[in-house]
Amino acid sequence: MSFDPQALRAKYRQERDRRIRPDGAAQYRGARGEFGYYATDPWTERAERDPRQDRVEAAVIGGGFGGLVTGAKLRDAGLDSVRMIDEAGDFGGTWYWNRYPGIHCDIESSVYLPLLEEVGTEPTWRYSPGEEIRQHAIAIARHYDLYDDTMFHTRVTELRWHEDDAEWQVRTDRGDDFRARYVIVSSGTLTQPKLPGIPGIETFRGHTFHTSRWDYGYTGEDLAGLKDKKVGVVGTGATGIQVIPRLAAEAQHLYVFQRTPSSVDVRDNRRLEPGWTAGLKPGWQRERMNNFLTVVTGGHADEDLIGDGWTATAALQRTFLSGSRTELSDEELELADFATMNRIRARVDDIVTDPVVAERLKPWYRYMCKRPTFSDFYLQTFNRPNVTLVDTADTGGITALTEHTVVVGDSEYDVDCLVFATGFEVGISGIVSGTLPVHGRDGVPLLQSWAQGPRTLHGFSSHGYPNLFHLGSLQNASSVNFMHILTEQATHIGALVAEARTRHARWIEPTAEAEQDWVATIRANAMDNYRFQAECTPGYYNGEGKPRPVSNSYGPGPVAFHELLDKWRTGGGFDQVLAGAE
Ligand code: NDP
Repeated sequence: MSFDPQALRAKYRQERDRRIRPDGAAQYRGARGEFGYYATDPWTERAERDPRQDRVEAAVIGGGFGGLVTGAKLRDAGLDSVRMIDEAGDFGGTWYWNRYPGIHCDIESSVYLPLLEEVGTEPTWRYSPGEEIRQHAIAIARHYDLYDDTMFHTRVTELRWHEDDAEWQVRTDRGDDFRARYVIVSSGTLTQPKLPGIPGIETFRGHTFHTSRWDYGYTGEDLAGLKDKKVGVVGTGATGIQVIPRLAAEAQHLYVFQRTPSSVDVRDNRRLEPGWTAGLKPGWQRERMNNFLTVVTGGHADEDLIGDGWTATAALQRTFLSGSRTELSDEELELADFATMNRIRARVDDIVTDPVVAERLKPWYRYMCKRPTFSDFYLQTFNRPNVTLVDTADTGGITALTEHTVVVGDSEYDVDCLVFATGFEVGISGIVSGTLPVHGRDGVPLLQSWAQGPRTLHGFSSHGYPNLFHLGSLQNASSVNFMHILTEQATHIGALVAEARTRHARWIEPTAEAEQDWVATIRANAMDNYRFQAECTPGYYNGEGKPRPVSNSYGPGPVAFHELLDKWRTGGGFDQVLAGAE
């Protein structure tokens, strides 16, 4: 062994302790109130419209890929009347909002983009640029006629069940008050931009915006507007890694304010030959998706069809995400982790010429403590004469902002423009957080019935809340390719609705017993990664240094979970949840 595990453990601990802040997630502020302008929609003008008071078969809350694939599956189930609702001005979810320069998918497009074969989209890059992904979202909506009945720039404010009609009453912030037989909530997890609570942030007079609301009016489409500008960027997470090389290429000077470096591995993005999908056997996408999921979650696959930075580090991902355990012991996993991170740190030395800068760019934590990143341009950026890396770890981030400067400790940096690549509030949208009040049978609020903890069957639905479904990882599954998880969820919901229609069932609702059994299954199989997370540098993965005791997804992992759902559907599961003949 060419390294000393004890020394690495000590170094990781020291670097973690340097970053832990007692205020945890409270260090951030949401883009609301006086900072609400950071969240306004730069892409689509809000159109006035009359409130609606009508009736639809299904209302889908969320026009990101989760909602879109659900819409598609509801069409496949035979529903004519599907209303898609989103706070954005068009489809695409995170890919609608995030249009910063350099934006790309970090999972291979062939397994990330859903419904490629159904819609006939052929990605042109191995890892698609954001605009290609957004156009695919639009293509799905067109293909499945999901533009027929949309409510954009609309936020659902309340759901209320009406037993006699077996319908949900849906109210929105645009005065709509309509009825829906089925409601599906796919409102995402990282949706609201967050800003650091830097003292003096409100006094800054330079130009400023969040990466998820890029101001092309200021920068120009090609960023030529930055030629004579001193630009600062705060944040070096997955977004920062993609945007920083582009800013560096155009700005007069770029200051990168880094608190914790990301792990940056090889990307190897490349153009795909036009027509590359033509000769493939129907079903090729499903095969690739299943193969990727199996490989990254530790199941058995004869072949690794994707062969990239994710599949190469599959064993390490299972220290954080649920999935089949590897044959490696915890100690062996830790050694493999050290070896991988040593390789990633050595890559920094290979690329960055200034040894002091290289040292600052090295990540000292275990592989899955933060979302791993991949780039063939990022580290190279720090060899440019117009780029300065400012390390803010010792001061817990940027110390303050003044009218024209960024203050870090005793140093001040004069900037014309400050870009916040500071990420998103976690899990604040949707029914789980209470931002969307849900009143079920007898008017009982969902969160009240969950007072002792969430209760669902398979994460989708709860007793007392008929015909309401919810997408997300809660008591369901998770993966680095979350799109695959969403696709399976949409497929399951589509199958439930199709079966309810075949049987003329008025509602789909788990029994209290089925729900209890599922909660017990989740608890019995819960993956305990508390120690791993507690030893990590703070970030949104571990609640900014305050991790949850156990994961709330299905412990054996997504492949086992999808098999379980499949068996449930073919083995009489529908009988448990369908009731009330029409
Ligand atoms: P992150 O939350 O991952 O990163 C925020 C960054 O801001 C961190 O580097 C953080 O430092 C830094 N920061 C926060 N506050 C301060 C401060 N006061 N001073 C200095 N630095 C500060 O957000 P991202 O937008 O980068 O990524 C969020 C997620 O979005 C990703 O994890 C990924 O899931 C997804 N994503 C996916 C992409 C894809 O290709 N599929 C591309 C981009 C994002 P610190 O780490 O020290 O807290």
